[in-house]
Amino acid sequence: MVVFYTLMPMLSKQCVLCLEPSHNPLPLCAPCRKDLPILKHACTSCAAPLSTNAVTRCAICQKKPPPQDFALCHFLYDSPIKQLLTQLKFQKKVAYGRLLGNLFATHLQDYYQQHPECLPEAIIPVPLSLKRMSERGFNQAERIAKPIGKELGLPILRNACHRKRHTAPQLSLPAKDRHKNLLNAFEIKNSLTLNGRPIEHVALIDDVITTAATLESLATEVKRVGVKTVTLWGVARTPLN
Ligand SMILES: [Zn+2]
Ligand SMILES: [Zn+2]
Repeated sequence: MVVFYTLMPMLSKQCVLCLEPSHNPLPLCAPCRKDLPILKHACTSCAAPLSTNAVTRCAICQKKPPPQDFALCHFLYDSPIKQLLTQLKFQKKVAYGRLLGNLFATHLQDYYQQHPECLPEAIIPVPLSLKRMSERGFNQAERIAKPIGKELGLPILRNACHRKRHTAPQLSLPAKDRHKNLLNAFEIKNSLTLNGRPIEHVALIDDVITTAATLESLATEVKRVGVKTVTLWGVARTPLN
């Protein structure tokens, strides 16, 4: 019984949403977790929400296939995920990055248990520009990637890629300008290898996928250096409009 009492405080945290005890090792209680805006039907190429699972790709991807092969997001970019991501980035709530990474890791584990042939070999967190990195002090995509790498047993390639120049925040621009904003924004100097062998399948991870332009631009660069398959991972996806 001594063990029981000493373990109890470690297994429960304060829920970040309702502030009640979570009764589990994550700072999120079961009722709040159940209410999160899960992305149910989505385009397999860009993760855009779809109203039905009768089709697998959205009209845009059917018309013009994007550079990446697959895309997976866990949540809709809606309350309270939106607020957690905003506070992660702008109020340095790095614990939220860990929490969202853990939730996404569970989702990805379930998915790849059913589709083991689709599992990427390594993760690249979308890099920030040097300017934004020095303002923020950390890269939110790296914080989210960490628990995922651990749970899925995948290496995180932190320095494989960098942002060549500072770009305007994607959400601040109209959709038509977002692609232009990111054209040639990323650079990978060396081919990507793991234990001396070329990597064939990489997952690119970011906090939010908006028009997918950021990740598509990076996916193009990753393929340019010889990676055959690219999967996009985003904690949350904004609707198409
Ligand atoms: Zn709660
Ligand atoms: Zn699509």
